[in-house]
Amino acid sequence: MTTDEFTVQGVPVSELAQQYGTPLFVYDTEVLRAGYQRLRERLHPAVDVLFSLKANPNVSVCAYLRSLGAGAEVSSLAELMTARRAGVDPKDTIFLGPGKSAEELTACLRAGLHAVVCESLAELKLLDALAVAEGLSEVPVMLRMNPDFHTKGSGLAMGGKPRQFGVDLAVLRQSADVVKRLRAARVIGVHAYMGTRFLDHADVLNNTTHILAAAEALCAELGVPLRTVDFGGGLGVPYFDGEKELDLDSLLVALHGVVDEFTRTHPETRLIMELGRYLTAMAGTYVVRVLYVKESMGETFAVADGGTNHHMAAVGVGSFVKRNFPIRSLTRYTEPAVGPVTVTGPLCTPNDVLGKRVQLPPVEPGDLLGVERSGAYGPTASPVLFLSHGYPAEVLVHDGEAHLVARRDTPEDLLNRQILKEF
Ligand SMILES: *Cc1c(COP(=O)(O)O)cnc(C)c1O
Repeated sequence: MTTDEFTVQGVPVSELAQQYGTPLFVYDTEVLRAGYQRLRERLHPAVDVLFSLKANPNVSVCAYLRSLGAGAEVSSLAELMTARRAGVDPKDTIFLGPGKSAEELTACLRAGLHAVVCESLAELKLLDALAVAEGLSEVPVMLRMNPDFHTKGSGLAMGGKPRQFGVDLAVLRQSADVVKRLRAARVIGVHAYMGTRFLDHADVLNNTTHILAAAEALCAELGVPLRTVDFGGGLGVPYFDGEKELDLDSLLVALHGVVDEFTRTHPETRLIMELGRYLTAMAGTYVVRVLYVKESMGETFAVADGGTNHHMAAVGVGSFVKRNFPIRSLTRYTEPAVGPVTVTGPLCTPNDVLGKRVQLPPVEPGDLLGVERSGAYGPTASPVLFLSHGYPAEVLVHDGEAHLVARRDTPEDLLNRQILKEF
C-alpha cells in the first residue's frame, strides 16, 4: 500500500502486523547493538555491563545482549532461568531483590553465581545457613548498601532514604561480627543502586564516585576484600516533551577518569554497571491497530486494540499532568500531523489512554500506531491480565528477518489457569 510506512531493518510494519497480529511489541537488534556498543566503546574496560532482566525479561532479547557481551542481573527464579537459557554464564550473573525466598537462595547457590546480593543481615544469615546445608563453602555474596548520601535527579529513588532495599550504611559498618561469624558465605564486595531514570550525567557520576569511596571504606572496616563493586547505573532515556537526552559521551569520559583512578589502587576489583532501560528502551515499539475513530465533545479518539494493559508506563504514573510517550502513525510514518488525537485502548476504564491529544497525521480504522522507545518496562510491568486480554506477541527483527520471540496469550491460555467448581 503506502510506501512511507514504518519499517524495521527493511521489514514493513504492515507485514509484521499481518503475520503476527496486533497488538505487538517489535524489537530491533540493530538498535540494541548500537546502544550497547556506544556504551561499551567508551566505558572503562574494567567495568562489566550486566543486563537487568526486570526491564525486559524476553529470553531472546537477553540472549542477544549476551552475544554482545552483557551479563545478567536477575531478581527471581524465572529471571535466573531465563538468563541461564539465554546462555549467560553464572559467573556473569548476580541475583538481587529485597524478598528472596529460601528456594531462590538455594537455586542461586546451586547455579554458582558471581554473587548473591544480600539485602538484609537476616538474609545474609539465611544464605549462610543454606550454603552450609548444601555442603558449600566460600560462597560469594555482596552486601547491598543503602548509602547515607542522596541524589536528586532520579525519576524514582531507591537509596539514600528510608527504603526496603539493602542495608543502611550505618548498620553495615556495625556488622563486622555478623560477617566474621559466617560459616560458608564470603563477603566479596558491595552493591548500590540509587534509582532509575537519571538524565543528568552529573548525577550518575556523583553516585559512582560516592559509591566507590563508600564501598572501599566499608570493606576496610569490615575486614573483607573488595573484589567487586556494583555501582548500579539507572541511566535514563527521554520519553516526554522537555526531557533532554542523557549526555552519554560526557558521562563516559568523566566516568573513565573516576574508574581509572579507582583501578590504580584496586587493580583486581571487578566493577559492574547494571542497566535495564538504557539497554532496551530505544529498541522497542509497541504496535497497535486502530479499530475505531470517534468524536466526543470536540475531542477525537482513536480506539486501538491494545492500550495500557501492555504499556502501563504510558499512563505517566507519578506525574500530575499526563505526559505522552512518543507516538507515531506507523502507517503514515512520514506524513505531517494534522491535529490532535487521543489514543486509547480496549479497557473499560477512562485511564486507558496511551496518548492524550497526540499530534498525528490523519488516522483511520485499520491504521497502525506505534508507541516508540517502548523496549523497557512494557508488558511485564503492565496489568496484562486486566479484562483478560493477556500477553501480546513479541517479535525480534534481526538481520532483516522477523522472529516471533513470545507468542500472544490465547483465551485458553488464560482460562487454563482457572479451575471450575461445578454447582
Ligand atoms: C530496576 C533496577 C535496575 C534497572 O534499572 P534501569 O533504570 O532500568 O537501568 C537495576 N538495579 C536494580 C537494583 C533495580 O532495582
